[in-house]
Amino acid sequence: MLKTCQIYADLEKEAKLPLPPAAQVQTAFKKSGETVPTPAARREEILQNPHFGSHFTDHMALAQWSAKNGWHERQIVPFGPFSLSPAASVLHYGQEIFEGIKAYAHPDGSVWTFRPGYNAARLRQSARRLMMPEISNEDFLGSLVTLVRTDRQWVPTAVSAALYLRPFMVATEPFLGVRSATEYTYCVIASPAGPYFEDEGAGVSIYVTQSFHRAFPGGTGAAKCGGNYAGSLLPQVEAAQKGYQQVCFLDASGRYLEELGGMNVFVVYEDGHVETPRLTGTILAGGTRSSIITLLRGNGREVTECDIALQTLLERIRTGQVTEVFACGTAAVVAPIGKLGGADFVVEVPQGSLTKQVHDELTGIQFGLRPDTHGWLYRLC
Ligand SMILES: *Cc1c(COP(=O)(O)O)cnc(C)c1O
Repeated sequence: MLKTCQIYADLEKEAKLPLPPAAQVQTAFKKSGETVPTPAARREEILQNPHFGSHFTDHMALAQWSAKNGWHERQIVPFGPFSLSPAASVLHYGQEIFEGIKAYAHPDGSVWTFRPGYNAARLRQSARRLMMPEISNEDFLGSLVTLVRTDRQWVPTAVSAALYLRPFMVATEPFLGVRSATEYTYCVIASPAGPYFEDEGAGVSIYVTQSFHRAFPGGTGAAKCGGNYAGSLLPQVEAAQKGYQQVCFLDASGRYLEELGGMNVFVVYEDGHVETPRLTGTILAGGTRSSIITLLRGNGREVTECDIALQTLLERIRTGQVTEVFACGTAAVVAPIGKLGGADFVVEVPQGSLTKQVHDELTGIQFGLRPDTHGWLYRLC
């Protein structure tokens, strides 16, 4: 059995492997089928105000895997429904994994993505946990490069907007026995994205659930799989009914902070040091989390990955030792947390300047406005 710490160590290591340039991966996915493109006026209207995840570009990338042939049928096809047997195992046992990564338009018109090697490595890590086939860096990048080049006109140029890419894989074999499927479809769809939270001005309100858990030791918390999200919907409704925007999960002991349904968390202290929950196997290792740790440490700040007890955190917010709490992920980037509530507590979290500083430094690199000193950017077109 792989040890938890080994899984995460492999992820950071794999994420640093050199990537094949776009010129080398641009031919594998072949265009097929006739597209009826969205009228330019309608596209422009969407790009002016894209919201999050509700509009899709004209194409998608597809590849098939079978035990016999491995990965084959790499294609770029018109965006649209695909046919699936009602017996497809994803519909019954949930073999589904996904990624989230963005394409950013730079001021000179070129289009880039951010640390795709990290997402490719994490997709393989998720695949290993869910007993699904792994996808190579070549195929992962080939799908992104070709799709973004095909739908280039869909990359928003508005401030802070980007093209959100959603690579995912599902088990398609029609078979009802419980075992790993022998056929899979990999697909990438793209959606122009504006801010994830329509109003995060005063900070996002977070309900710390003590009734539900997202993950547990030995479970799938470290894999980006659909099932983790299905399980987070009821706690999300619990939070919404109490007037909160998002849920924060505790570890299985109910003592330590883990993460939100789709974002990692950071705590900033009065003396300038920063903490984030350590990766224990029950937390999803965010690429944004990893990048923020590197950026903060690069600025000479002390960042500790540790156990953060909820009771200690609440006390330190009340005494003023904690000056900021923020959440981060590809979709929402960096969002200040303004309020933490639970079954028997509510605390207002102060707003400070580090959250905005981290946000600006990270997005500055992503949008080509600040130097990319870590070599995190990858040119798509
Ligand atoms: C995707 C995700 C994150 C954030 O990961 P990024 O790589 O930063 O986008 C955090 N937590 C969960 C549960 C996630 O699914």
